[in-house]
Amino acid sequence: MQKSRGEVDYLRISVTDRCQLRCLYCMPPEGVPRLEHREILRFEEIARVVWVAAARGFRRFRLTGGEPLLRRDVSALVRLLAAVPGVEDLSLTTNGCLLAREAAPLKEAGLRRLNVSLDALDPGLYRRLTRGGDVGLVLAGLEAARRLGFAPIKLNAVIVAGVNESEILPLADFARRRGFIVRFIELMPVLGSGSRPAPGFLSGERVRRIIGARYPLEEASGIEGGGPARYWRSGDLTVGFISPLTCDTCRSCRRLRLTAAGGLRTCLFSEEESDLKTALRSGAGDGEIARMLDAAVAAKPVRHMVSSPDSGSIRMSAIGG
Ligand code: SAM
Ligand code: SF4
Repeated sequence: MQKSRGEVDYLRISVTDRCQLRCLYCMPPEGVPRLEHREILRFEEIARVVWVAAARGFRRFRLTGGEPLLRRDVSALVRLLAAVPGVEDLSLTTNGCLLAREAAPLKEAGLRRLNVSLDALDPGLYRRLTRGGDVGLVLAGLEAARRLGFAPIKLNAVIVAGVNESEILPLADFARRRGFIVRFIELMPVLGSGSRPAPGFLSGERVRRIIGARYPLEEASGIEGGGPARYWRSGDLTVGFISPLTCDTCRSCRRLRLTAAGGLRTCLFSEEESDLKTALRSGAGDGEIARMLDAAVAAKPVRHMVSSPDSGSIRMSAIGG
């Protein structure tokens, strides 16, 4: 069974392959070979894809990376996209390191929702997980965004067994006190790990039980974003779980992905892509771009190839996790 137009209404756009961090589970210590400037989609090219996608019924768009705030003047892109008719929801996922500086221009450009990745509050652990990051910058960025009225702000945390399990409850407490939603993402196997188990894999269910032992959780619905996360509440705490390895998140997956180099992908775990950049740069009309989007929707797998914690592999920084 294929997904149809209308069922797929969310485009995740990677605006750069660059990142200043080297998270253990995402990048090798030396980083990855960088794309040349000319290989990366220009803002007008991204905006054109968004125009056509919105006219085809796409409603939700997210900017990601690499680290999207490293792309020069990314708020100018936000402004372009926020003005596209049909764009109902425009959001951004960031590591938060540059958020204190960028939050105001982003808000002013029309961004409303933010996801900030934060795997540890403890400065030493954060530095270890990100290979050198400063958690103080992220906390300052979160505070700036909160004061400016971004809502909801979601924290994304990847828990690696044996590394940052001790941060599960502190992250939940922090989110509750600040009015953020915290989401725990299951660790996915990264490129190069072959068929070896992702070291440190911990299921979302295990994390939920740890939180549930302190906070009596009740399943919640109606959380903005409508992605693959399942949410639970306890008083002021809202916690989500994105569990692609242990739950069938594919059924509810409504997204396509546009890589920084202009490849259109149907699934995080699929290497196949159609080359939108070449089409855009060789004079393709809107009809041709629309056909490529439709073809990607029709080719969207009903189930990804990673069905257990020990198969398949991805490179998040390149695809825009
Ligand atoms: N640099 C930005 C950030 O970290 O938020 C945006 C890009 S990053 C690739 C997007 C998300 O992918 C982050 O929340 C990150 O934690 C998640 N991610 C990266 N590698 C992952 C992996 N191997 N397993 C699970 N999540 C991963
Ligand atoms: Fe950079 Fe985000 Fe990957 Fe961490 S998860 S290395 S912040 S792209």
